Amino acid sequence: MEQLVRHRLHIAQSMDWKDAVIALVEPRSPYRPWRYGTTEAKEGDTVVFVLNTDPPSVLADVARVKAENHLAEAVFDGALYDPNLLELSTIGKVLGLEPRAANAWSFDGDDAIKLELSLEECRYFCAPESRFGRNTMAAARTLLRFGGYCDGCDQQIDLTGEGARKEIFVHTVDHRMRLAPDSAVDDWPAVMCTRCHGRMAAEGHTRFVDFKFAQYPGCPECGARRTASLFYGMPSDHANIPPWRWAAGCCLGPERWGCKECGHDW
Ligand SMILES: [Zn+2]
Ligand SMILES: [Zn+2]
Ligand SMILES: [Zn+2]
Repeated sequence: MEQLVRHRLHIAQSMDWKDAVIALVEPRSPYRPWRYGTTEAKEGDTVVFVLNTDPPSVLADVARVKAENHLAEAVFDGALYDPNLLELSTIGKVLGLEPRAANAWSFDGDDAIKLELSLEECRYFCAPESRFGRNTMAAARTLLRFGGYCDGCDQQIDLTGEGARKEIFVHTVDHRMRLAPDSAVDDWPAVMCTRCHGRMAAEGHTRFVDFKFAQYPGCPECGARRTASLFYGMPSDHANIPPWRWAAGCCLGPERWGCKECGHDW
């Protein structure tokens, strides 16, 4: 009798989460941060990426092996777009995959499919609160949303080189908790270039939003330093608009700035 070929899911685990995230967001990166349990793979097998963050996390996107034995060249179905990370032990618990979620290098058949479907379902869950907190899982989530530009100065950050890990900094913020006292503007997790990282410290800012607002003009009406830069168009993800940006609607106007204190725009 012919043996049934079972579907197999392989785990790729990072040795350095920051290098791993850089390799995920910049496919031209020379970094090779992944470890595998085997080199044996067949076409159609899937690869799931586990990051050695604190706590350990798993990328909510699945790559596919395109050629026999080419595990390290597995590709995603589409370009990664604001990918999400899930906490590994919770996923393992919910799917009944404990303790193997923490130590197995591969999953077969139903277990593999169950894991893939769960990751797929969580792919676009990316509320800003998931990036709050001081742990490296939150930092990795912030870095995964890197779109090529520094949040501080809007200049490009090149991650294609060997020194990329020293070119980029992740600013983490405190958890946002229920019943927290109302503060005017929460701090916001951000990705920064070396220059901004140094400038922020030199100017004595501990919150990224204060560093950002200090670069924008004060309000001509009320004098507050809580100016956001306006953008036009229909944002699809309101929750993730950072405090220094303001959705001004779809009708293009001459105004460039908006005051978050008094609402004046100019
Ligand atoms: Zn910068
Ligand atoms: Zn309109
Ligand atoms: Zn104002």
